[in-house]
Amino acid sequence: MILKSYIASEWVAGAGEGRPLVNPVNGQVLATASAEGLDVEKGLAYARVNGVQALAQLSFAQRGALLKSIAGVLVGNRDKYIETARLNSGNTAVDASIDIDGGIGTLKYYAFLGSKLGDAKFFNETSRDQLTKEPIFCSQHFLTSRPGVGVQINAFNFPSWGMWEKAAVALLSGVPSFAKPATSTALLSYEMMHDVISADIVPNGVLSLLCGSGEGLFTGLSPMDSIAFTGSAATANMLRTNNNIVAANLRMNIEADSVNATILGPDVTVGSALFNLALKETVKALSIKAGQLCTNIRRVFVCKKLLPDFEAALSEKIAALVVGDPSDAATRVGPLINVAQQKEALSNIATLKTETTFVASAPLPSGLAENSSFVAPTLLRSADPANADNVHKIEVFGPCVTLLAYDNLDQAIELTARAEGALALSLFSDDPVAQMQVTQSLAPWHGRVLIVDQAVGKNHTGHSIVMPQSVHGGPGRAGGGEELGGLRGMQFHMQRSAIQGSTHVLDRMQQLSCQLQL
Ligand code: NAP
Repeated sequence: MILKSYIASEWVAGAGEGRPLVNPVNGQVLATASAEGLDVEKGLAYARVNGVQALAQLSFAQRGALLKSIAGVLVGNRDKYIETARLNSGNTAVDASIDIDGGIGTLKYYAFLGSKLGDAKFFNETSRDQLTKEPIFCSQHFLTSRPGVGVQINAFNFPSWGMWEKAAVALLSGVPSFAKPATSTALLSYEMMHDVISADIVPNGVLSLLCGSGEGLFTGLSPMDSIAFTGSAATANMLRTNNNIVAANLRMNIEADSVNATILGPDVTVGSALFNLALKETVKALSIKAGQLCTNIRRVFVCKKLLPDFEAALSEKIAALVVGDPSDAATRVGPLINVAQQKEALSNIATLKTETTFVASAPLPSGLAENSSFVAPTLLRSADPANADNVHKIEVFGPCVTLLAYDNLDQAIELTARAEGALALSLFSDDPVAQMQVTQSLAPWHGRVLIVDQAVGKNHTGHSIVMPQSVHGGPGRAGGGEELGGLRGMQFHMQRSAIQGSTHVLDRMQQLSCQLQL
């Protein structure tokens, strides 16, 4: 099978052999993708004219209805997608659901927001300032859709969620989406887009898909276009300095890698509810999507006196994890997505081992195919994290977690920040002082902070799960981006302008627009 791209309302195939998409259980080639020779510039121009015009005619509510119908098509084909995620991403049913239902849920959430925003097409901010002596002349801020294309480049670990969470926010904002999935897992993105386009519910130019290399994406960009990138810090840095991107002075949102952490507060005791909740969350970090989540816990800070018990309980759970072919219902941990990722993860684990102690790992199944890409869930311990470096810097994009011993909360906070900016932090603690201290000191280093106390108990969405209501992104190393967060994400696609005029003009504009209520 050759994956085609959907450009200028046509399905077109790139030239050449293309890159293979494989089944990570056995290395079998499932499809190839190539963008060679495709007229991407023409596709961007087409979306900039047709997609922008089509969305400009729709109110927020109508755009929301469009998102709802896209979600409806995807729901109708969900079983097929679960199977594709198993084949091309090595996903268990749980892994696949996070990606597929996560994408559909985000579309539905933005559809709902659109319905609430009603007939308006742009936002107003309520406050108004009188600029002259006479009260007739004022300034008020409005946010209007930027007439450009949202170029949306995604990482391999979320071929569904990554594509739809970006498209949902862009489309509701009135901006067409030009999606570029990571090649290695693009089969799911391709199938989903193909089904949506075949359903004939989306106006021309509103959705485009580029399968294969994204190198052609950066010529012919207009200042109203934007780039939303998710992937490694290395690729992000390359994009930041790309001459065409710099010349066009585009808006760019970057979601990159990060070394996320969780802290067990000093008040957590052996066998307590918080102890067990933190244990559960850490096991998830070692099993779900085989650790291939950008928000995954990589470092677990535990105070010195609690560490032996936490380590023992965790080791027991790890030994019981079933690693294997995701087509087997008993499997909890599937493979990484390909041999290249397996090699990188193993090499990073080896580097971490130079300054940590190996604690435990889950057994790998016997009789693995030569080209399979499994990595055994691995637990490491850093007894002296203050004098370690790599453990705070290297993201093993796989099932590996390090326990880090701390003396007191101040030290745990200082060490957590050594990741230099991350996507998600969690704290397990009932102590209000610890909760405040961690929030004040570490929220600036993170896009999201989950605080689990006994009142919340099991009733939370998890350290790693990104909810569309909350912002997703992180400062520094994590890229400095900010996506989702309800209406907050839409501001990326809209221009805030100060409109200066008479109160009559501003009144009329206000009536036609909808208040930006964050
Ligand atoms: P990657 O190698 O940086 O690739 C990301 C995307 O960039 C892919 O679609 C890739 O396309 C594309 N790309 C690479 N070079 C390009 C170029 N010259 N021009 C245009 N596009 C280019 O990252 P990955 O290996 O897919 O993803 C793993 C990383 O993503 C991990 O480090 C993880 O932490 C991070 N991640 C972050 C988040 C977040 O929200 N912050 C979410 C998920 C993953 P090809 O596949 O065709 O090369």
